[in-house]
Formats: sequence, structure tokens, C-alpha cells
Amino acid sequence: MAETVLVTGGAGYVGSHAAALLVERGYEVVVADDLSTGHRAAVPPAARFVRLDLADQEGLQGLFRAHRFDAIMHFAALSLVGESMKDPLRWIGDNTGNAVRLLRAAHEARVGRFVLSSTAALFDPAGDRPIDEQAPVEPQSPYGDSKFMVERILYWADRILGIRSACLRYFNAAGAHPVGHIGEDHRPETHLIPIVIEAALGKRKAVTVFGSDYATPDGTCVRDYVHVMDLADAHIAVLDPLRHRSVRYNLGTGSGHSVREVIRAVEEVGGRKVPVELGPRRPGDTATLVADPAAIRRELGWTPHYPGLRAIVETAWRWHEKHPEGYGPPKSPDSSRPAIRP
Ligand code: UDP
Repeated sequence: MAETVLVTGGAGYVGSHAAALLVERGYEVVVADDLSTGHRAAVPPAARFVRLDLADQEGLQGLFRAHRFDAIMHFAALSLVGESMKDPLRWIGDNTGNAVRLLRAAHEARVGRFVLSSTAALFDPAGDRPIDEQAPVEPQSPYGDSKFMVERILYWADRILGIRSACLRYFNAAGAHPVGHIGEDHRPETHLIPIVIEAALGKRKAVTVFGSDYATPDGTCVRDYVHVMDLADAHIAVLDPLRHRSVRYNLGTGSGHSVREVIRAVEEVGGRKVPVELGPRRPGDTATLVADPAAIRRELGWTPHYPGLRAIVETAWRWHEKHPEGYGPPKSPDSSRPAIRP
């Protein structure tokens, strides 16, 4: 019989791609999402959808009464790093509180496998070497620390309650489903690749390069862009080992690309020039952030199917070209509270 997976935040960017891949691989999928930042249209038609705020204890209990879950993938969280610097207590309170409520429900329902959408933002970004799982943890924002706190909660949930967990620390999630029916639609958009594509398509005047005097080969910041379908694949790859043990992995390709390289890749894929402006550094940015993904490769054989920047940009371009309005017109102000990663 097919396993049933609860995907919280399954209407968000990474969550919707994970839900789609789970459906494609034959899992039963239940998506729980409050739609504060996610999109109903991003949820696969074959998945069941429950509109739920994880702070709603009764709703959560009802969800676990209505379904028997074999595993949980937890994507729903407040995700904006910059906003977390203005309202730290909300970010920390919501992200840890929702995780605790979800874990309590999981424990009561005897669900023993839990996959956490975690982040590279929990590491000390100093230095330019690829970051492995042993790298020092030093979150630079309440957002990054809230994810680390959830990782610590999961440690105790494993040790005392026997809930096995996978903490997957993403580097820069990018790209879209190869079919082009789902993709990245953040409001407001802050991520580089969609912004560059929007500039190429004439939807923005230009892309501003945040700093061109970094100690990197071309002076612009270097990041490890990892395809969202590869992230989705990693979430599924950990489900089996989670029967026996908890794991934590850094998820990236191991290769970094500069802002200028991203712009060039978009120009090549789109066949048009991207208007560019040079601007000051963005506060909080670090020169280089690249994963060392050796552990998940060695232990689970996971490697990216979309290892190159070009493949990532091609799928993102397809989504943006097919969906110039993303998932549709702007949402009402009521529903625009930031809430879901990534
Ligand atoms: N960036 C930029 N212009 C933009 C958006 C981002 O130059 O309009 C840069 C940003 O400074 C960083 C990189 O692109 O070095 C990736 O930024 P993004 O916000 O996509 O991800 P982050 O690495 O901050 O998680």
C-alpha cells in the first residue's frame, strides 16, 4: 500500500515541488498550508489539501485524526531573513512553536519519521571553504537560529520519543519543475534568479547587483544554487534511512556561481540582454556560501540531477515565460503576511 506523507507548507516553493515529486513517485500526499504566502494552485491536484495554520491546535488534531501519516515533511515556516531581524520574537516563536505542536501531534499519532526543511543560514558564514555538517553553527539571524532551535528540538524528540528526523540544510534553492507548471512565486520576490529573469522579461527596469567589491573572482557574491527538484528528491531519499536513524545533511551542488555568472546564464538561456545596475552591498550578505554535499552523496548516493547553473536557469525561465503573473494576480493585503519558506 502507498505510504501517506503530510507536507506542511506544500503550497510554498520547495514544499510544492516536494509534493509534486511525492505524487509522481506514487505516495499519497496530504498538504497542510495556511496559504499566507503559498498558492493553492501550486498544490498537485492528486494531493489532498487542508487549509491549516499550525498554530491551530484543534485543527492539527483533526488533521491527525483524519489521516494516518507514515512520515511528515515540514516546510511551513516564516522564512524572510531580513524581516526576522525586525521581529525576532515572532520568527522564533512561530517557527519553534509550530514545530513543537506538529511534533506533539506526530508523537500522539505515532508518526516516527520527520523531515525538516532547514537552512544553510544556521552556519557561521565566515570563510570561503565549502561547508560540511561539522562546520561551526553560528546563525546570523533569528530566522537561521529558529531553524537551528527546531533541529535541537528534533534531537530530543529522537532521543526521548524515538521520532527519527532528517534536517536538510538547503543552500540556494532555485529552478522550477521541468514541466513548467509550478515554480517560484514569492511576494515580494527577493531571490536573485527570479529577479534576473523578470529583468530579462522586461517586468523590472533592471537587476541591482548588491556589491561588486567582494573578495571573489569577479567581485560579486558566490552562492551554491541547488535545483528545487533535487531538494525534493533528497527529501524522498531520506525517508528510508529514517526508519532506523536520524540524519542531517547539507544540500547543495558543491559548486558556487557569482551574481554575474547568474546574469550571464539568464542572458544565454533567454537570448536577450539583462539590464544591470551596480549597487551597494546588501547588509548581512557574505562573500561566498557553498555546500560540501559529500555526506549525503556518500551515505545515500544522492547527487543533483541538475548540477549546472544552466539547467537550473532553463527550468526557471520556462516557468516564468509560461506564467508571467506567477500563480495569479496579487493577493489581498489580508493574506500577504509572510509565513512560508522558502
Ligand atoms: N542579489 C543581488 N541582487 C538582487 C538579489 C540578490 O545582487 O536583486 C545577490 C545577493 O546579494 C546574494 C545572491 O544574489 O549574493 C543571492 O541572493 P538571494 O537573495 O537569492 O539568496 P541568499 O543567498 O541571500 O539566500
